[in-house]
Amino acid sequence: ATNGEGAVSKPPPTPSPLRSSKYTTAKMRILITGGAGFIGSHLVDRLMEEGTNEVIVADNFFTGTKENLKRWMGHPNFELIRHDVTEPLLVEVDQIYHLACPASPIFYKHNPVKTIKTNVMGTLNMLGLAKRVGARILLTSTSEVYGDPLEHPQKEEYWGNVNPIGVRSCYDEGKRVAETLMFDYHRQHGVEIRIARIFNTYGPRMNIDDGRVVSNFIAQALRGEVMTVQAPGTQTRSFCYVSDMVDGLMKLMRGENTGPINIGNPGEFTMLELAEAVKELIAPEASYKITENTPDDPRQRKPDITKATKLLGWAPTVSLHQGLPLMAADFAERLGVERKTD
Ligand code: NAD
Ligand code: UDP
Ligand code: UDP
Repeated sequence: ATNGEGAVSKPPPTPSPLRSSKYTTAKMRILITGGAGFIGSHLVDRLMEEGTNEVIVADNFFTGTKENLKRWMGHPNFELIRHDVTEPLLVEVDQIYHLACPASPIFYKHNPVKTIKTNVMGTLNMLGLAKRVGARILLTSTSEVYGDPLEHPQKEEYWGNVNPIGVRSCYDEGKRVAETLMFDYHRQHGVEIRIARIFNTYGPRMNIDDGRVVSNFIAQALRGEVMTVQAPGTQTRSFCYVSDMVDGLMKLMRGENTGPINIGNPGEFTMLELAEAVKELIAPEASYKITENTPDDPRQRKPDITKATKLLGWAPTVSLHQGLPLMAADFAERLGVERKTD
């Protein structure tokens, strides 16, 4: 185990017999903040399908919807609470997956003060809750903590290149403070923490108009609109399919390493390549144009997943070429458009 800034740290000082035994008892009570959102609702599905968990979702429905959870409404092991994590929450649980936070730039920039409150006060409240009830807590941090990275690919040890006063800071600096809070509660109060640094994730149930690149391109292609490649188009991202992401998060929660651990798909694509892939796989007649970009857009991003592979035994299994058509099928259904198949 490494220490200091390292990714792996010792277990908390004095785990009581009660605290360790709860990981072996059959029924686990699990809180998912942000569980009505894109990644959260897929995580709910997996945990509910296991059949041995009681799942509580706390969500304020800013970017998530009840629709994403409709198959579990009325299930005796499922509970949905309309709750804003910037307010204290009193529930009794064994594990907390803390996802609540808008993830798309257009939403997190919409009310930046609320975004940073969600990251700071929301994470503080969930840590206070974890401390009180002795729950293990996982934070979904982000590759944005690396900012516009000067190291490529990004390893967990890299401290990042982040503008503290930019328009993205409410999100990336917010997540950096959230990570700090996690480690302070761990070191000072012995709270069991897990930190995932999530790289761009895509798949069914993404908000159709949430402004992120994969959802934009697929929606544009299906609607017969021109895909908007933001300049210069040579910037890169690495896209992880949502089922792989959920698998990684569950392995991290259930494993012995605090993280931070990168979870993402190391396949790296330029935005022009992504537009080409959408054209090839989803709508051969589609076209794209170059549009204006937003400030502080990271030029390249690709996870080093050595740690996830070694420590969690995790690696992504769904390639972009496999995942894009699966997402397009869901979008086509929700948009009510007929998909042309070749
Ligand atoms: P999402 O917007 O679909 O889900 C976020 C959920 O949090 C929504 O249901 C929203 O209503 C809820 N929420 C927001 N603010 C809240 C508040 N104050 N109180 C209670 N609920 C609140 O986004 P997602 O893509 O599912 O992202 C989930 C998590 O993963 C976020 O923490 C995000 O930062 C992180 N993440 C996602 C990606 C990605 O590519 N999707 C990348 C990096 C990190
Ligand atoms: N908190 C919460 N649920 C709990 C326990 C605490 O929401 O079950 C909140 C609490 O309101 C506080 C935060 O978590 O704002 C941090 O709690 P902690 O006990 O660490 O700090 P303190 O209350 O002493 O400031
Ligand atoms: N992007 C694009 N067209 C769009 C939306 C985004 O070319 O319609 C680009 C954007 O400039 C960025 C990349 O896609 O370089 C990823 O943007 P997104 O908002 O999806 O995620 P993030 O910036 O958080 O990685």
